[in-house]
Parts: sequence; structure tokens; C-alpha cells
Amino acid sequence: MENTTLKSIAEHYETPVYVYDGDKIQKQYHRLKNAFKDVEKLRINYACKALSNISILSLIRSYGSGLDTVSIQEVQLGIKSGFKPKEIIFTPNGVSLEEIEKVAEIGVQINIDNLSTLEQFGTKYPNVPVCIRINPHVMAGGNSNISVGHIDSKFGISIHQIPHILRIVENTKMQINGVHMHTGSDILDIDVFLYAAEILFNTALKFENLEFLDFGSGFKVPYRSGDIETNIEELGEKLSERFNRFCETYGKHLELVFEPGKFLVSEAGYFLTKVNSVKQTTSTVFAQVNSGFNHLIRPMFYGSHHEIINISNSKGKQRFYTVVGYICETDTFGSNRKINEISEGDFLAFKNAGAYCFSMSSNYNSRYRPAEILWHNKQAHLIRNKETFEELIQNQILIGFKKTVATD
Ligand SMILES: *Cc1c(COP(=O)(O)O)cnc(C)c1O
Repeated sequence: MENTTLKSIAEHYETPVYVYDGDKIQKQYHRLKNAFKDVEKLRINYACKALSNISILSLIRSYGSGLDTVSIQEVQLGIKSGFKPKEIIFTPNGVSLEEIEKVAEIGVQINIDNLSTLEQFGTKYPNVPVCIRINPHVMAGGNSNISVGHIDSKFGISIHQIPHILRIVENTKMQINGVHMHTGSDILDIDVFLYAAEILFNTALKFENLEFLDFGSGFKVPYRSGDIETNIEELGEKLSERFNRFCETYGKHLELVFEPGKFLVSEAGYFLTKVNSVKQTTSTVFAQVNSGFNHLIRPMFYGSHHEIINISNSKGKQRFYTVVGYICETDTFGSNRKINEISEGDFLAFKNAGAYCFSMSSNYNSRYRPAEILWHNKQAHLIRNKETFEELIQNQILIGFKKTVATD
């Protein structure tokens, strides 16, 4: 989005405010789809924990996407935004059997990632088809090493436990209709990903009635200039060819499924803030904005890098600033960043603010969660109001204790 557009949104709506560029989301969706055009059946399930505003879900649904969910509340948000239950997959980790049962009753595809739940669910509902999440124990090491690791990860059923899975399936007569993996690590090296895919193919051959293979996500997007991103086109070419060969071996055209979150929405998001004060200490110039980790926690939580630009002075001389928030706790967004000269009252925009930003926000310091704007067809649409004081206290119950100590 143009700086001038962002600036006029910041002026029109109160900051802080999140802005999402609908065209960018659409572009990313089609880029992924195109990369896999040689696969007969492709399904993209948007992982909505990245950004779960119902208008965003509705927008992504309009492209033909399905939905990947991790809680029954996300399932409900999906249905509220127009998804049919069968367009939703439920991939939780460590939730109760009751929650899984409730989601299955709605008619959503269940994905199970531990043996105990698999056995209990299969015993009770042998006729409800289930996908199993495996852990291939493959980690991308950031270079071309293929390391077998994460043996103690809490996600997925270890591939070393496949004999257990097969015994449970045989005993319960349950139906397995999909096999899934999502390692959570960035796909930087396509060969590492293809290696993990081989493990998924080998696992798939052990089940006769599959309908789909789900390769999860892990698409890396650039956060700063020069960042490596997943080469989707190359991955598409190589994996499609291999997948089609696998389908021949399997004797059936299975559906190839991905569940991207970050890839679809990260770069579409901007977080707009206003500078409350510029403060010079002995060795640092701080720019303090009207936000903190209550609104955007990734830099403090994961050490993530978000580019910060001054949209009020985009031609100004560049200087070094440490951008911090207004929370009574260390809340550094970026240290010694080169930013166009900042004056108090300027608007700063944080880039890559689409994924895991608003959805991880909180009310810490009793601040309101910000408004959200969708930029669509060259127009700004308000898709969430800023919170109010009434909302902040609506679930609190005041017990009015009488003062029992004389204070004067
Ligand atoms: C979070 C999650 C995703 C999305 O991951 P991104 O890195 O945002 O693409 C996909 N699948 C599952 C099961 C997840 O938990």
C-alpha cells in the first residue's frame, strides 16, 4: 500500500490501528494456487489463527479457500463467516476429547495428533473419518543439512509409532481419510521439504482409503529486504511432479492440501501508530509510540523483525531511532533503526503486521485492542471497532468493599 494511503487512514481513524491490504492477500493466494496448477486436486486451507477477523475469513473464503482451525471457537468463527463444516479442518494439539467430539458433530474434518485420543475417538466413532497428524522428525537446519530432530516435540504422532497407529485402526475399524504433517519450521531448503514429503508418502501407503495428503505450512515470507523466502514456484514444480507420481503408485488422485497462515496474510498487514514522544538519552534516541506488546508482541516474544517506516515524513533525512512503546515494561519494537527523521505526532507504520499480530494482542495495561481496517477495492472498510471501556469491564464483577481504615 502507498504511504499516502496509510497516512490518510491513520488521520481518518484513531491510531493505533491495523490495516490489511485485501489485494495482497488475493495475490498470495493465487500465487500458491498457480504454483500447484499441475496437481489435479489442490486445496488451500487458510490457517486462521494468524488473523481471524471474520471479514478476512469471508474474503479468503471468496477465493475458494478452506479453513484450518485449532480451537472450537475458530471453527465457530469459520462457520459465522460462511464456511461449510466440510470446508474446515480441525488440527488441535492437546485439546480435550470432548472438544474434538463437539467439532466432529458439527461435521468438520478431524485431525488427530496423539495415540490416546486416536484410540478413544476411534472406539466411540468408528464411522467418522479421521486424518492423522504425523511427526516426520525432519528439521530444516537453515542450511542444506537434513537433521532428524524434534523427537520430543509435542506435535504429531511420531513416525516411529506407525505400528501403534495401525493396530488402533485395525482394532477400532476406524477410517483414516488423510495424513498430515506440519513441522512448524520455515521451508528454506526445498530439498529438506521434499525429504519430509517422502516420509509422508511412505506413511500414506499404509492406509488404503485416503482422500487427501496435507503438507501443512512453513512458507517463509520476507520480513526485511534481502530476506530469503520460500521459492513457492520451485516447490510447486518439484512437489507437484512427485505428488502426481505418488498418486499413480497409490492408484487414486488424492487431494493435495496446504494450510498457510503467514504466507497469505503477513505482508498484507500494516500496524499504524503515532509517536507520543522523542526522547534522547545519553546514547539512544527513543521514539515512543502509542502502543506496546499489548498490540504487537512478536518482536518481544520471538525476536521478530518488523520494518518500521515514518509515513509522515517519507522523504526526511534518515537517523537512528530505537522504537519503543508505552507499556510499563521493556517493550522495544526495534533498536537503532534507520528511519526518516521522526517528530512527535508522526505516524509510524510497522510492516508484516498481518500474521500473529492482532490475533496475539491483549488488554495488558488495561488498554483497548485497536480497530482493524480492510483495504479492498481502493476503499477502507472498518472491520473491527476499537474496544471500549464497557467491553474492558464487561466480565468483571465489582465487589464494593467498604473502607475500614481511617485515612485522615
Ligand atoms: C499455525 C499453523 C499453520 C500455519 O502456519 P504459518 O507458519 O502461519 O503458515 C498451519 N498448520 C497448523 C497445524 C498450524 O498450527
